[in-house]
Amino acid sequence: MTMQLSTTAKITWCPGCPNNAILVAFRKAVTELVESGVVKEENVVACAGIGCHAKILDYLNMNTFNALHGRAIPPAVGMKAANPNLSVFVFSGDGDSYSEGFNHLVHAAQRNDDINVMIHDNQIFALTTGQSTPTSPKGHKGGARPSGSIEEPIDPLRLMLTAGATFVARSYAGEIEKTKEIIKAAHAHKGFSFIEIAQPCITFFDTRDFFKDNIVWLPEDHPKGDRRAAYEATQREDGKVPMGIFYHVTQPTFEEQL
Ligand code: SF4
Repeated sequence: MTMQLSTTAKITWCPGCPNNAILVAFRKAVTELVESGVVKEENVVACAGIGCHAKILDYLNMNTFNALHGRAIPPAVGMKAANPNLSVFVFSGDGDSYSEGFNHLVHAAQRNDDINVMIHDNQIFALTTGQSTPTSPKGHKGGARPSGSIEEPIDPLRLMLTAGATFVARSYAGEIEKTKEIIKAAHAHKGFSFIEIAQPCITFFDTRDFFKDNIVWLPEDHPKGDRRAAYEATQREDGKVPMGIFYHVTQPTFEEQL
């Protein structure tokens, strides 16, 4: 029997929002994991924080938990520690986990919690109409800062590599098949998996044209076990945005050592 992961909830994302593509990629990944016998449907759970990303839980017919703003990760950590048989996925946003709850992201990476974190990074607080976040480009003009932000953006991948994440990847929402494969690879990884998903907000910060021209996928022979090589590979001199699996190593997980 084919798995049914959709719900009857009305989709309230803006028409054409790339969050829809992330939803499709995730449904496909989970369906393939369940139908191939890798996981049991009842052992899959997803958490989310607050933001446009979090609506995804309404459209997933599975075990879910909607946490407070910036707090998608703590319940995921607790679930996995209490029941290591679970496959735990976390949806969060750049406003949710790079701004409001960044400490949780850093410490989950440090502990090597065996959870899979996906950040829908649209480089703004979209649900509250477009204020700057830590990944907004310098000069970004939002309602709260009409003259433009003055900070340089953070590099989440480099921060995660420094914090100790054992699986670090980036994908693009519009690349559904590639995102699905990265989600499955993250799930296969035992330990903390971090996936940054570039997700344009077509209403408040439409970066689709930029990504159409500037995505570069890592070569097949990228050395995934080399943290320094991963660090170097996250940025390019020509301003293009590298994507793929940057880093993947096996280390004892928090749950194994608990
Ligand atoms: Fe998507 Fe932006 Fe609309 Fe939110 S505001 S649903 S991120 S297009």
